[in-house]
Amino acid sequence: MEKFDLNSITRENIKGLKPYSSARDEYVSQGSEMVFLDANENPNINGVNRYPDPHQRNLKAILAKQKNVEESQILVGNGSDEILDLLFRAFCEPKKDNIISLPPTYGMYKVLAGINAIVNREVLLNSEFQPDINTIISKVDSDSKLLFLCSPNNPTGNLIDAKKIENLLIRFQGLVIIDEAYIDFANTSSWINKLYKYPNLVVTQTLSKAYGMAGIRLGMCFASEAIIDLLKKIKPPYNVNELTQKQAVNGLLDITKVTNQIAEILTERQNLKEALKEIPFIQNIYHSEANFLLVKVDDADMRYNQLLEQQIVIRNRSKQPLCDNTLRLTIGTPEENIKLIKALKVIK
Ligand SMILES: *Cc1c(COP(=O)(O)O)cnc(C)c1O
Repeated sequence: MEKFDLNSITRENIKGLKPYSSARDEYVSQGSEMVFLDANENPNINGVNRYPDPHQRNLKAILAKQKNVEESQILVGNGSDEILDLLFRAFCEPKKDNIISLPPTYGMYKVLAGINAIVNREVLLNSEFQPDINTIISKVDSDSKLLFLCSPNNPTGNLIDAKKIENLLIRFQGLVIIDEAYIDFANTSSWINKLYKYPNLVVTQTLSKAYGMAGIRLGMCFASEAIIDLLKKIKPPYNVNELTQKQAVNGLLDITKVTNQIAEILTERQNLKEALKEIPFIQNIYHSEANFLLVKVDDADMRYNQLLEQQIVIRNRSKQPLCDNTLRLTIGTPEENIKLIKALKVIK
């Protein structure tokens, strides 16, 4: 297998770019001694009158410590969705390149491929929701730039087999992106720990799920410094706003709260699973390493509508391949989960 060559997979127009240098690039406020008359801001202090730090230094310092990486290996964005979009724009030449995705999986890979005019080559997961390595490799050509692996996978909830991921990291010549949106609920460690070993590995995480901050939009990307430098060239300078940076810092520092909430959600996942076993029209409850359960029912459309009538909104995943008659249930609070069970018991 040839050696991974970042330069050869980077779009030509991106290679020559210099990052946009914003007014607030050179100096961040270090207290009262600096007078900032450089960015045409309103000088009256209200907490958000200044542009945010374009390098998100405070946030990255905490992330670097917690994730055991260098700050230069981190990019943060307006949700993981922005980060995934940056990956397309850095590496995928519109109307020429392609990506590989493995349905049933997260819908954004396909959406972003469409927006960026990139062909999305889909290779179905097998019946165990694991990648079919040989078929994937047979679909790859020199224009295949990104391979998306979601682990734990949405909507199926399972982890992708580590041996298979390693195999793909070695054999795929583009970037392997492991979407770890649900990693904090899983009984395994992050692929961030393998960044030193695989130069084509990119790991994305988010504060939207376990950390309870979907509303602030904060996604994280961990990769080699070389990959991160490329993405920095094309990110909007102020892509993460001041309120988000502050709240993300506070949320990350409150480790006890997050750990306790994750533990409660995992307990609730187990309780819900036991209760679902008693519902006659639920035929299968898939193993989950995330904060949701995928279940197979007799008639998903009907059951979905019946729950809706009782003011319970879930996700019908039946249109996804391999997911006939499946519903995805997010783990709620204990009270919400009781309501769900009650509703399931009422419907006939
Ligand atoms: C929810 C989710 C995300 C989160 O995206 P954000 O833009 O960070 O909110 C990313 N990937 C997967 C697979 C998800 O399910």
